[in-house]
Amino acid sequence: MKKKQVNSSRTPVYRDAGFELYDAGTASAAFAQEANPIRDPEVYIYSRYRNPTVVAAEEEIMKLERAGWALLTQSGMSAIDTAVSIFQNGRNTRPWLFFSEIYGGTLSYIDSILRKYRGLDIHIFEPAEERYDLRVFEALMKKLHPEFVYIEAVSNPMLIVPDVINVIRIAKKYGSKVIADNTFATPYLWRPLESGADIVIHSATKYFSGHGNITAGVLCGNDNEIMKEAINYRKFIGHMISADDAYRLHDHIQTFELRFVQQCKNASAVADILQKSKKVRKVWFPGNPDHPTHREAASLFGKKGWGGMVTFDFKGKDKTEKKKRRDVFIKAVSEKIKLIPSLGDPKTIILPVESVWGAKYPEPGMLRLSAGFEDTKMLKNAIRGALD
Ligand code: PLP
Repeated sequence: MKKKQVNSSRTPVYRDAGFELYDAGTASAAFAQEANPIRDPEVYIYSRYRNPTVVAAEEEIMKLERAGWALLTQSGMSAIDTAVSIFQNGRNTRPWLFFSEIYGGTLSYIDSILRKYRGLDIHIFEPAEERYDLRVFEALMKKLHPEFVYIEAVSNPMLIVPDVINVIRIAKKYGSKVIADNTFATPYLWRPLESGADIVIHSATKYFSGHGNITAGVLCGNDNEIMKEAINYRKFIGHMISADDAYRLHDHIQTFELRFVQQCKNASAVADILQKSKKVRKVWFPGNPDHPTHREAASLFGKKGWGGMVTFDFKGKDKTEKKKRRDVFIKAVSEKIKLIPSLGDPKTIILPVESVWGAKYPEPGMLRLSAGFEDTKMLKNAIRGALD
């Protein structure tokens, strides 16, 4: 029976686990070319390997990051696991170097998976007073010659922006690959591949989804050898995203830039109010001239925006008073601003830093805020009202 063709302009949700391969010859050709960048015939085999709905969403992300390939995974963590694991080479694995101010989940993954289970030689490079000293970095590169350097363009929760252009330049000088988690900056503010990074990662759960209702990750790049390794790893570990999530993500990506521009605008408005408040001790926002890495942010983002995140600390004579101010604020904004442990959502959300980071940031007055794309005036009123 002939298959029905429908004149839809969109790639539908293909829920097939396995695809029809017609005959042994087609099956052999399909399996032989499975990880090739270009396949002839262009047939799908099995959804854990490749799926047309997933490919359609990947093509949208390739446009955003100007990448030659993109691979979606079922979470940001699985994108990170794929990106780093393909550089593991048994007992001959060279050292890996991670910048310290990265997502806390990535640091926990380093300890509980890479070190504990895999026994890998992982090094962590720390900043001094919220800025990375690139001379120290270069000395470390000279000593270690790591397989790769792992960075984030905007750190969490202090929003430190490293001089990533020079980090990449130095990494290349010592023959290292560069992996950049670009979740916070997004391709609106920076495209790491254009600056020479080898792999870009996103927690697509955040700004790409933008609605707080999809868990997804993606890694992209231009090097086809890296792509083949990543395709294999995603397939064998089973990190593939579902067709349903890929379809929804594809939809949400259409409005990514509109949303993010408004989120940057709202974050700036909130940072401005907080900066002027007598109740606030300190605001960390890359757009503020007194932020330790304001210069780096201005040069990297070209003043297009400063990201959608703001971190701040309440004043108080002691920890008890700070904690009280924080809790009063959380309660006062709770109608409009919820305490949700994520970021990039439609509505502004907050997170108490001490509750999440514990000993790393033991400041009970600190809150991290992810600006939503709601009406700016309404958001400003909610923040002002709660501060009063
Ligand atoms: N990278 C960054 C910068 C993140 O903030 C997160 C999660 O918060 C992740 C990666 C992990 O993403 P996911 O929660 O989608 O696995």
